Amino acid sequence: MVKTVEIAWKECLQIIKDNVSKASYRTWFEPIVPLKLEDNVLTIQVPSTFFYEFLEEQYIDLLRKTLTKVIGSGVKLEYHVVMGDNGYNKQAYTVKMPTSGKPNLSNRPLHLPVDKDTASIKNPFIIPGLKKMHVDPQLKPENSFDNFVEGECNRLARSAGFAVASKPGGTAFNPLFVYGGNGLGKTHLAQAIGIEVKKQFPEKIVLYVDSSRFQTQYAEAIRKNNRNDFVHFYQMIDVLIVDDVQYFATKIGTQDVFFHIFNHLHQLGKQVILTSDKSPVELQGLDERLLSRFKWGLSADVQEPDFKTRIEILKMKSYQDGINIDDEILEYIASHITSNIRELEGALISILAQSTLNRKEITLELAKQMIDKLVKNSRREISIDYIQKVVCNYFNMSVEKLNSKTRKREVVQARQIAMYFAKSMTKSSLASIGANIGGKDHATVLHACKTVNNLMDTDKRFKYYIEEIDKKLKM
Ligand code: ADP
Ligand code: MG
Repeated sequence: MVKTVEIAWKECLQIIKDNVSKASYRTWFEPIVPLKLEDNVLTIQVPSTFFYEFLEEQYIDLLRKTLTKVIGSGVKLEYHVVMGDNGYNKQAYTVKMPTSGKPNLSNRPLHLPVDKDTASIKNPFIIPGLKKMHVDPQLKPENSFDNFVEGECNRLARSAGFAVASKPGGTAFNPLFVYGGNGLGKTHLAQAIGIEVKKQFPEKIVLYVDSSRFQTQYAEAIRKNNRNDFVHFYQMIDVLIVDDVQYFATKIGTQDVFFHIFNHLHQLGKQVILTSDKSPVELQGLDERLLSRFKWGLSADVQEPDFKTRIEILKMKSYQDGINIDDEILEYIASHITSNIRELEGALISILAQSTLNRKEITLELAKQMIDKLVKNSRREISIDYIQKVVCNYFNMSVEKLNSKTRKREVVQARQIAMYFAKSMTKSSLASIGANIGGKDHATVLHACKTVNNLMDTDKRFKYYIEEIDKKLKM
């Protein structure tokens, strides 16, 4: 006669009870819910992945013997892991485990048992309901290698990244540490590696996470008292990408937990990819233990793209948008936005948007207008030439006159104002300001700054001039 799942499990529990301590029985067997018994497969529900692994590590022999005795030989055990609290989220996945054969978890470290109520994995990356443990890698398809333009500025990082993707964990580049300034392609490259791994090795568990998300998850895990599940989740990853690790600085708890995860992954030959705005040598506020590990693999930087690369990036992006833009215009953009690929992209997007919204052709004129706005908005250094131009414009005076030897009062005053702004808005020295404005010495510039400051305190109208010019300069 075929036993119902309840009866079968009850019989199993009786045997188990005699073979484990009372405490273990209560902790590890009472919470199990028998779900079904079909085709010689017993499905049991356990509260967490950790729970399942613990059973596998500690009790697999007992389970095998018991199931064989109660249900018959050839019996298989399936786990149904519940995630989310109080069984409300029926998020679950099933792990198939033949009851014969060695569990493949022998080299996993032993985790301390966690409280049953908090043992459920609530990791946002886990897609529920799939047959196998599945982690959403958090990759954006547009960040592929195909879309990543190679140039002098990123050649080493790119090729190391590609090597890593073709042999995750199997190169000397572990960890691969990609560093460089804002908007130079670190995130894109790191994601490209993940995408390529998934393409070449679909079975590998890849996860991209930025450091602040990691941080938040960790804080949450601590709050909910399931640090173990957090650590365990990360220790399952085959290719872990952590973006912007500089934000780990001074966060001691996070660094500590990351240290353990890192060591575990590295030991198992799993690939770790890190990005940062600084090289490991320059990173401040990070534990020496971590820094020394960051240096184990390869550090490769991404630099500002040269003109040719900028053009190529613009070409690729506009091609992807299905828009053909004159070389002349692309060159204009590429020669005015030089230090940041994100801004380069932004410029192109706003030109396209302008042209679409206003149904205007994309002309050099339009591009110039847009770029001028963008460039002024960004915190570029204002040049002394530009200051002179604006000041002269304001007072309706030619730049030649400002730079002439004349001692006419209004010219002197305009000159002083130009010097004052040059001092406050540029990094130039007093001497070089003087040399550039009217060929004066540094003492004259110093005097000019004092005079302007005094006048602003005493002369309302003068103060108004200054404020107006200031606005124009920052426009
Ligand atoms: P970072 O992480 O270094 O601040 P991102 O990776 O976010 O920079 O890059 C900023 C933008 O520039 C993204 O939209 C990215 O797709 C693009 N980008 C960066 N490098 C390249 C490249 N080599 N080829 C094409 N696009 C790039
Ligand atoms: Mg980034």
